[in-house]
Order: sequence, then structure tokens, then C-alpha cells
Amino acid sequence: MSDLSRFAINQITTKNLSLDLAVETYARHGVGGIGVWMDYLDAAGIAAGAKRIRDAGLFVPCLCTSAWVNLADPAAYRAALEENRRRLDAAAAIGAPTLVVVPGSLATGERDLVAARQRVEDALAELLPYALAAGVKIGLEPLHPMFAGDRSCLNTFAQCLELCDRLGEGTGLVADVYHCWWDPEFPKGLVAAGVERLLTFHLSDWLTPTRDVYQDRGMVGDGVIDHAYYRDLLNRIGYDGPIEIEIFSRLDWWQRDGDETVRVCVERCAPLVAPRVRQTPSSVAAIRA
Ligand code: ZN
Repeated sequence: MSDLSRFAINQITTKNLSLDLAVETYARHGVGGIGVWMDYLDAAGIAAGAKRIRDAGLFVPCLCTSAWVNLADPAAYRAALEENRRRLDAAAAIGAPTLVVVPGSLATGERDLVAARQRVEDALAELLPYALAAGVKIGLEPLHPMFAGDRSCLNTFAQCLELCDRLGEGTGLVADVYHCWWDPEFPKGLVAAGVERLLTFHLSDWLTPTRDVYQDRGMVGDGVIDHAYYRDLLNRIGYDGPIEIEIFSRLDWWQRDGDETVRVCVERCAPLVAPRVRQTPSSVAAIRA
């Protein structure tokens, strides 16, 4: 049996399962962890959800996601920051070391992307002391540029690394092959981020053609992304953190039975998630011999 201890399924992959059912199904298939979404956690109740996850023995690589801060109205913006503080507390409650930041982009009617990006940076700088006190990292996840108009103005790995540098301690990177596979700077960015700043790694596949901009990610192995390349690169970097499958699939996987989806996730990802073999001098000698 494969070692799935570092492997997590992000629960959006099984959109139709409640938190309770997702936890039960993942644990039954031997999956190590669950990436949790705030709306499912709220539906379960934060304390009850935390207990459920703990009792099943699952780890939580991250809580998804931060609340959008693309709000020109000052009162609404303050409320969004307050909601983000609540989510940082929720992450701490379920043992998630990272809150994934998806901050929105342009406010309604706005065209100034530079200002939108500055607003996000200001918001994160303001949230950072709270995050540090909660013991939860702010995980910057660059989203594919096709989302730059609405979901997120953080769009390349290099941009997020620079932001990480400016914000400092308490921040890191959430790398997602779906968002970054096209970017010639992505591999270099992973190396530059290093194990300290790489918080979790998301898998799915890029389908050609993409039929729905928002919700047509493929099962690992069904698209054009070279997952083995990233597995080897992560091993070279020395990354031994979480590896998490995350599929938005309105047209396919969300229509299937959750149990089947989890089974296929495990089947496809098992070859990619083996714990990194730490080479001791004796094991290196054995390989040479
Ligand atoms: Zn992701």
C-alpha cells in the first residue's frame, strides 16, 4: 500500500460532500489530510469540524480561503479584514498552519490594477501581526492570469515571492501547478522559495481545451501538466510538506460520486506523493554499491 501520509485532498474536489462526509471518505481511503474550505467548516461548526478532523486522524494543510478585500467602500473593507481575522482563528482551531490568500482584484468599476495590488499588500500587512499571534501563515497563492479581473490580482509566482519578501515572517507560498504550469519562471521560483517558504503544493491538470474558465480543472493525468517533473523538482529542493489535489470540475468530477472521485485521486496521485527518501551516508553507499 502506498504511503499517503503527506497527501491531502482539498475538499472542493468533492464539492457535494459535507465536511463530515469528506473526512469520513478520505480517511477510509487512507488519505493523510484534508484541505478545508471555510463555508463547509461554518456549516459543520468550527469546534465540531475541528473535532471531527482530529478524531479521524487527518492533517489539515490549509484553510481556503481568505475573504476578498477588493472593496472601495472603507466600511466594507474593514469588515473584510475582520472576516479574515475570523478565518485566521478558524485555521488555528482546525490545526491548519496556512490560510490560503485569494484576495479578489479590482473593485466594482475600478480599472487600476496597480492600486488593487497595493490594497491587497496593505491588507495583508495589516493582518500579519494577527496571523503571527494566531500561529497561522499567510499563504500567497498566485492564480492564473485569467482570474486577474476578479478573483485575485496575485498572478505569478515571482510576484508572490517578492510580496513575501516585503511582508516577511509569517508569509509563504502556496504553489498550484494549475495556476503556474505555463510560467517559464515557475520552476526557478520554486527553487527560490525553498522549503521554508513553500507551504503546500496543489495538484490538478490543465485540460485542452478548457471548457469553463472557472471550473474545468482536470484529474491529475488527464491533461498536459508534467507532474513527474514537479515531483522530481520538489524532491531536489528537499520539499517534504503537503501535496494536495484540488479540482474544480463542474462538468465532470463534481457530477460523480465522491467516493469514486477520492478513489481516482488516490490512484493518480500515489506515485507523486511518496515521502522523500532522506539519504543517509549508508543509503548513498548502498546505492553506489
Ligand atoms: Zn490551489
